[in-house]
Amino acid sequence: MALTGKTAIVTGAAGGIGLAIAQRFLHDGARVMIADVDHEKGEKAERDLAKLGKVQFVKADVGKRLDIHNLVAATIDAFGDIDILVNNAGIVHGADFLDLKEEDFDRVLQVNLKGSFLAGQAVARYMVEKVGNGGSPGSIINMSSINAVVAIANQLPYSVSKGGVNQLTRVMALSLAPYGIRVNAIGPGSIMTDMLSSVNNDPEAKNRILSRTPMGRVGEPSEIAAIAAFLASDDASYITGQTIYADGGRLPL
Ligand code: NAD
Repeated sequence: MALTGKTAIVTGAAGGIGLAIAQRFLHDGARVMIADVDHEKGEKAERDLAKLGKVQFVKADVGKRLDIHNLVAATIDAFGDIDILVNNAGIVHGADFLDLKEEDFDRVLQVNLKGSFLAGQAVARYMVEKVGNGGSPGSIINMSSINAVVAIANQLPYSVSKGGVNQLTRVMALSLAPYGIRVNAIGPGSIMTDMLSSVNNDPEAKNRILSRTPMGRVGEPSEIAAIAAFLASDDASYITGQTIYADGGRLPL
């Protein structure tokens, strides 16, 4: 199994894409620390995933430095190592540009961009020290979106945060390449999760999305998890600084 012996942290893993990534990593042999701000959903995910392998849940808000510190410490305490970080936690806030409130702009940026920075830096510092002591380098994966490069009305903070995630990925990759630590991003199109719940309930919105998606369907969380598993594995040993888009053909066409 491609991830046997490796330890991963997946943020926002109580549901949606993060849960699918945790599931796939366990299936591929990794030990997984799942972190989420939702305590109840996180504990349920831990119970549900326990049959697949070694998994623990820690409540953490990725936008808070102290929570990230505790998450890293809890992972080392539980599993003795960190090889993989997936900065998956993310939120959306829909509002017209003219009506957008400062606090909503800050909240989305705090989770989607600053959260990836805080967790990325804390884990990278651990990985750099490990490499210095003769340990193996790790892999960091940031969750971007096609909205990093495609603007959609009413989603200014989300689009700005994901554009930032792409640049964060490149700069982190440059800084960490000398240590052999790889940093990449995944840019999903429309994936069937709670985040897309408005589409589930609104046939017009669903048709709009499908008409823009050449493959004519939304994606499954497991299809994003497969990319995370590849980027986390040694099969991707010469890939760093990239954003891999999985969007049913939307972007290039
Ligand atoms: P989701 O809403 O189903 O799940 C997100 C999870 O993150 C939830 O469990 C939530 O509790 C958790 N979370 C929210 N704020 C947090 C915080 N501050 N700290 C820790 N955890 C927090 O969303 P999803 O669709 O699974 O999205 C996962 C990632 O994929 C996000 O970064 C999102 O932007 C990205 N993405 C999703 C889609 C899509 O169509 N679903 C498309 C492109 C990108």
